Amino acid sequence: MKWFHSIRWRLQLWHGLLLVAVLAGFGFTAWQLQRANQLNRADRELEQRLGVIGGMVRPGGAPSDRPRPRGFSPENRPPPNEAKPLDLRLTAREATLFEGFPGQDFYYIVWLPEGQQGPISASAPAGAPRPEPLRGPPAFRSRGTLRECFHYVPSGECVLVGRDIRGELADIRRFAWLLAGVGGAVLALGLAGGGWIGARSLRPIGEISATAAKIATGDLSQRIPTADAESELGQLARDLNHTFARLQASFARQAQFTADASHELRTPVAVVLTQTQAALARERSATEYRESLAACQRAAQRMRGLIECLLSLARLDSADAPALEADDLCRIAKESVELLQPLAQAQGVHLEWELAPAPCLASAGQLAQVVSNLVSNAIHYNRPGGSVCVKVASEPAGVLLAVSDTGLGIAPGDLPHLFERFYRVDKARSGAQGHLGLGLAIAHAIVEAHGGTMEVASTPGLGSTFTVRLPSLPQG
Ligand code: ADP
Repeated sequence: MKWFHSIRWRLQLWHGLLLVAVLAGFGFTAWQLQRANQLNRADRELEQRLGVIGGMVRPGGAPSDRPRPRGFSPENRPPPNEAKPLDLRLTAREATLFEGFPGQDFYYIVWLPEGQQGPISASAPAGAPRPEPLRGPPAFRSRGTLRECFHYVPSGECVLVGRDIRGELADIRRFAWLLAGVGGAVLALGLAGGGWIGARSLRPIGEISATAAKIATGDLSQRIPTADAESELGQLARDLNHTFARLQASFARQAQFTADASHELRTPVAVVLTQTQAALARERSATEYRESLAACQRAAQRMRGLIECLLSLARLDSADAPALEADDLCRIAKESVELLQPLAQAQGVHLEWELAPAPCLASAGQLAQVVSNLVSNAIHYNRPGGSVCVKVASEPAGVLLAVSDTGLGIAPGDLPHLFERFYRVDKARSGAQGHLGLGLAIAHAIVEAHGGTMEVASTPGLGSTFTVRLPSLPQG
């Protein structure tokens, strides 16, 4: 029953059932209408002849002394007090009314009030039962292929006119077969059309599944063809392609990140190995041993710095959201800036700040790292005698931290990559000084985890401004 779980077959089944229901409903209604129409026509003919016979039913009434009845009406009835024997004689014209197709002649039967059979036409079938007494207008009944119309006249006689309607019944049967044939053809056409449309509409799902299977084997460059981009499935294919592209970029970034991290670790490990090999190669003086150990210590410190950065990034990548508490960005910035004041003095950079209360939801430790990374960069990439200004303010849209410097500035081509991991504008220069190209990436990840944004504006040779915007503390 695997096919039953397929959407295509389920659609086809429902479509088929619906089509059968509609066609059956339509066919049955058409058949009913046709049948009612045929029977109505036969009934009208019977009613007309019943009028003729009913008008003649008068005890002892002779054709010569009776008025010519044109239909069955109370005026045509004989006076009830006439008590002559019942005698029916049809004129030649009336007799033609009781001729039909061969074997389908109209017939009449009259029963007397006491129940005995009265006048009866030659073509009447033998043994017809008298209908149950009935008041009111003429009534109809069917007996096999016979259709009969009867009426009780006020004097008590029952008049019945009938006919074999085998011809009409055959017509109705033929019409039913025609309907069944046309219905079957429409059903077959509908099922074939529905199947074709279903297969065509669901083809993209097959393509999506095939592409997903190729991607699962590791080929992330695969994309789903989106020929019918406007349809719902086209939209789904576009969204999936977008997701695949992001996944591919993310995997590429991961691979690049691992390669960069390994590369960064290689240098200090090489230093440690070279130093230890050299020291162990032969007997050294105490000073040489000290120098070797100092070099190993610097390499280890560099590795520790890198490992701490990698750990921070890994935590930021894995944590859903940092634990945020109501805090003041002004307080956090002030503490960080004060800690960096000695570094600024050592570099000959003038550090100033303009801090206003800025309440926000924050992870104080993480925001302190953002301030520290931005300010230490602003000091490091500055010129002697330059200045750094740290500003914290509260704005209607949120709280703001801006770190401006009068340093080297950054070329426009480098700006879009600045927040990428391990990106350094001048690799040789900053790498040599222990700058790994992770400070801005960590700051950017922290700001994003706080629901904020970080931007940079820079003019080469004049300086840069890094601006962080965070949501303010929700009221109440
Ligand atoms: P690094 O540890 O190398 O400083 P960052 O991620 O903090 O790594 O910075 C990435 C690069 O951005 C740096 O290599 C530097 O070239 C550039 N940069 C960062 N801040 C500034 C700044 N204030 N002025 C000029 N260049 C900067």
